[in-house]
Amino acid sequence: METRWMYRTSNDLCELREASKGVCVMPIGCVEKHGLHLPLGQDSIQGEAIAYAASQIEPVCVFPTFTFGDLCGAAPSVPEGTVTLPEETLLLLLEQLCGQISRSGFHKIIIFNCHGGNYPLLSLFTRMLANKKRDYIVAVATVTATEPDEIAKNLKQNGRGLYPELTTEDEDYIIKFFDEGGINGHAGFGEVAYMMAIAPEAVHLDRLGIESGLSTHKADFLNRAGLRIRDAGWEVDYPNAYDGTDPVGCNERIAKCCFRLAAERLAHSVKVLKEENETLKWLDEYQKGW
Ligand SMILES: [Zn+2]
Repeated sequence: METRWMYRTSNDLCELREASKGVCVMPIGCVEKHGLHLPLGQDSIQGEAIAYAASQIEPVCVFPTFTFGDLCGAAPSVPEGTVTLPEETLLLLLEQLCGQISRSGFHKIIIFNCHGGNYPLLSLFTRMLANKKRDYIVAVATVTATEPDEIAKNLKQNGRGLYPELTTEDEDYIIKFFDEGGINGHAGFGEVAYMMAIAPEAVHLDRLGIESGLSTHKADFLNRAGLRIRDAGWEVDYPNAYDGTDPVGCNERIAKCCFRLAAERLAHSVKVLKEENETLKWLDEYQKGW
């Protein structure tokens, strides 16, 4: 079924709305450096692809991707190719777009977040919405990119052969990666796997090892004191915009497996929101008297 808003006609969007039970997914990513080995559009590309794959498991309307998510990008040190917009613009765009989605009869919106840096923006956005009269609810779902971690844990706990895509060598590699303390963060194993499943030509494993993905630990003293600084804290620890141990053994089979698991997780979230009849009632109750 064609689940993409942009590929439907005005006249047959209603068919998709019915199949979606009024739920619409808007992926949100960003445009930022992902080490030397992954593309600038990683988060937006993976958001769109995972959302589409999920919609083929559990039919749901997929709205065009909110490509330019939140980055602290005003400083001159921000890497080339990064695209940033002011927070005021982002908040206004999010609200306007959700209004437009709702105008077409989709009153349950899932913002599918694929960029960790969007969390403060999205929590501010949903907080802001709480004070606005509206006829739609917004739920935030998230990509975790932790499928390799989960696979390793599951194989160790529940035995081999759980993932039809993987060979014994693949299983060995994933288990060993984490047994040896492998780290899977920004531009790490999980994101490499997603991109390899979506656009293998955009992954450059041969560039791994040139710049380190390990923390400089310069900001650790703040973390130990329970302090977080938004600007520069992460960048000081990860000056190469890469937080991970080089996933040199990632291959197409592992990639497909990770991608499938991510799509299934989102499909499940969609299914729950499609089947429930409470949230819009709660919204009405909440807004009574406005
Ligand atoms: Zn990313």
